[in-house]
Amino acid sequence: MRIARFYGGKDIRVETAPDPEPGPQEVLVQVRAAGICGSDLHGYRRGAAGSGPPRTPGHELAGEVRALGEDVSGLDIGQRVAVEPLVGCGSCRYCRSGDYHLCPDLEHIGGARPGGFAELTVAPADRLYPLPDGISFDEASLLDVFAVAVHALTCVPVQPGERVAVIGTGAIGLSIAQAAAASGGDVAVLGRREHPLQVAAETANAYGIGVTGDDAVGAVLDWSDGMGADVVFEAVGGSADTLALALQLAAPHGRIGAVGSFQEPQTLDVRLGYRRELTLQWVWSYAHRGSRPEFAVALDMLARGQFQAAPLITHRFSLEQIAEAFQVADDKAAAQSIKVLVIP
Ligand SMILES: [Zn+2]
Ligand SMILES: [Zn+2]
Repeated sequence: MRIARFYGGKDIRVETAPDPEPGPQEVLVQVRAAGICGSDLHGYRRGAAGSGPPRTPGHELAGEVRALGEDVSGLDIGQRVAVEPLVGCGSCRYCRSGDYHLCPDLEHIGGARPGGFAELTVAPADRLYPLPDGISFDEASLLDVFAVAVHALTCVPVQPGERVAVIGTGAIGLSIAQAAAASGGDVAVLGRREHPLQVAAETANAYGIGVTGDDAVGAVLDWSDGMGADVVFEAVGGSADTLALALQLAAPHGRIGAVGSFQEPQTLDVRLGYRRELTLQWVWSYAHRGSRPEFAVALDMLARGQFQAAPLITHRFSLEQIAEAFQVADDKAAAQSIKVLVIP
């Protein structure tokens, strides 16, 4: 098979390797679509030469069942599936309670395990979700993103009519905007670029607020009749000061979901949080909402049209073009990219 191998930084090579074989309770999946995630770009941008063997990322993937390992039932060769990339140990207190994203030994398909930037990959059978006919592989590759949005709304629920400000117009921010709108929230999205704000307006009926040059806090106050937002989701992370901004945007008793992955410590005006009695909830990855996997909730919402994947998919590249795909995903402003897919 052909497989992309990441040797560190921007050193990405597409190589030929033996086909992987599924072990017991595992399935061989022919990858049909794999998305580039913001987290895939962290190592890419750092540019450091890797130590140890090269890795194959790609944790946002969908494909077809090619072969079944021992002790796999309920799946057929050729079946169309999405792959949930989280693999917990299965026995710790977090795995047993359903919060396997908090497992100390959590592995990701596309993290510690080889992922979807290859023609073939292996996944535990219980991580596969059969796809309804109406959902394409491209759309299904966004289920990991949509599941994060579902988890954000699990952690910080939105009531109908509440004002929800979403900071960030990447795929995660735009998906949280859609999920908040599906919960009946009145959504505003804050971002730097015009195109994703338009997508937010189309898919979440969101009011767009440009943050370059504008007074973002004033704009949110105007939008919310001077009150501030009932709920704020921060979905930027990196080295931005957007968590501090989230506190400024929140109304008294406001709830803040911190979804973005920050690379360094943040400075917050804790007086604001104190005086307004804000609740700050961190949101990482996803697992269960009650007894249901949030990945399954996301699939239901996609099937019902509460998540719209197509407007978020801006680019598609073949596996051989994966280096170019990463450039386009990295340079969002110049390339006007939101979600970039690799189609092996
Ligand atoms: Zn991701
Ligand atoms: Zn565990």
